[in-house]
Amino acid sequence: MTMLEEAFDLVVVGSGIAGQTAATSAAEAGLSVVLLEKTNVLGGSSSMSGGWFAFSGTEEQAAEGIEDSSELFLKDMLEVGNHLNDRGLLEAYLANQEETYRWLKAHGVAFREVEISSGQSARRSHNSVIRDVLARLHRDFTEAGGQTRLEHRAVHLTTDSSGRVAGVVTQTPAGEVTFTGHAGVVLATGGFSRGTKMLKVFAPEQLAAIPYGGKGNTGDGLRMAWKLGAGMADMSFVSGTYGSHPDTGEEFHELLTAYYMGAIIVNKDGHRFVDESQDYKTLGRVVLDQPDGLGFEIFDAKVRAKSHRGIPLKDVDTLEELGHVFKADTLEELAEAAGIRPTALVKTVERYNAAAAGTADDEVGRTNLCNGVGDLLPLDTPPFYAYPAKSLMTTTYCGVTINTNGQVVDVDGDVIEGLYAIGEVTGGFHGAAYMTGTSLGKGAVFGRIVAAHAADRATAATQV
Ligand SMILES: Cc1cc2nc3c(=O)[nH]c(=O)nc-3n(C[C@H](O)[C@H](O)[C@H](O)COP(=O)(O)OP(=O)(O)OC[C@H]3O[C@@H](n4cnc5c(N)ncnc54)[C@H](O)[C@@H]3O)c2cc1C
Repeated sequence: MTMLEEAFDLVVVGSGIAGQTAATSAAEAGLSVVLLEKTNVLGGSSSMSGGWFAFSGTEEQAAEGIEDSSELFLKDMLEVGNHLNDRGLLEAYLANQEETYRWLKAHGVAFREVEISSGQSARRSHNSVIRDVLARLHRDFTEAGGQTRLEHRAVHLTTDSSGRVAGVVTQTPAGEVTFTGHAGVVLATGGFSRGTKMLKVFAPEQLAAIPYGGKGNTGDGLRMAWKLGAGMADMSFVSGTYGSHPDTGEEFHELLTAYYMGAIIVNKDGHRFVDESQDYKTLGRVVLDQPDGLGFEIFDAKVRAKSHRGIPLKDVDTLEELGHVFKADTLEELAEAAGIRPTALVKTVERYNAAAAGTADDEVGRTNLCNGVGDLLPLDTPPFYAYPAKSLMTTTYCGVTINTNGQVVDVDGDVIEGLYAIGEVTGGFHGAAYMTGTSLGKGAVFGRIVAAHAADRATAATQV
């Protein structure tokens, strides 16, 4: 039996970028808001992320003369998603991204670098120091009167007599507490990268990837919405992200995408097995089928020179210091050191260099470095490098269906009144695969959308 009950305008479940954006925006709009977090720390996967946000039409792009547009952004997202995305959600993102970008900047967020990355045909990944972003949002949430409860795990949604979601029951160290939200409940509980039970149901092959992501990300929100009849989307596209050293564990994360800088990827037999310019979720799926689930990023001094210390995905300097990168003056020596078949590696690089020179077709059909952009570079300048990498189960990018207001819709497409879902717990946005920066981006954009929608609802209710 529930012992305690607390009433708010809005209940936000989960404290990653999605939950914190919604909570802060709603509190600043004058709603009483409680932010519930299952673990004893704020931030979820968001705080572990690379901090890249995908935006177009920004000051940072303009300063560097980068040509981009909403149309190109939409085209890229549809192509990455294999046109299986919910176009309405993409259009809602594009219609609101500029306002969200400005709102983040108004909260002190700085974007220090703009880069091209997975699934992009223009440089639109904007890098932030994500822990700083989350800390700023939480400070402003608290200043606006928001309340935060750590170690409060939401377990059930409650409904009123009309079937509208009225609140959520939580398990806390002090027992069960129910939180009601008269303007709604927002599920921002993240994905299920740590949810062995959910992975067994939806993507058992991914249990072979290195488990990662927020410790609380076990799929609770998905389960709660599922119980109320929520629809689901993109469940068959769960994939890890390719590019993490096999020693990547619970506490330490690294990811290198040297393949977008000019590297190729070979297996232990020295053979290439995929067009490396594709998005890194697709690469993550394919590498699971290779011996030991391992792919080596092979590059030369020219690619190595593009390293950028401290910038996630591009930081070869730090990985070399950690002893995770093999280095040698010849490809044979490199292969010996890394445990790759030397003769095969030499032949593979010869073939690739011929393709880069335009004298032969590339054996895996690669024609550019990243999603249609960048010329192939011959790997011909010693020293040579090999970075062994596996697929990292960082994110699931699928889940409950929502409409463009962030309201959860059921299996028949009808709104489940009172229930919102935002961020990685939702499905439909990405389709078959993912563009870098669109997860933090969609968390923030839809966080803003649901806060505005709930604030309108709360105002309408008080006027009745
Ligand atoms: C290593 C890594 C790098 C990444 N880099 C990028 C990047 O650069 N750009 C990008 O766009 N995306 C990136 N991603 C993906 C991105 O970080 C996530 O998809 C995104 O942060 C999810 O945000 P969220 O707010 O939906 O969920 P999360 O940030 O995961 O937050 C969910 C929170 O909900 C809590 N929670 C769960 N269940 C309950 C419950 N029952 N009750 C209460 N609380 C609950 C969790 O504990 C967690 O704190 C990366 C992910 C990883 C792991």
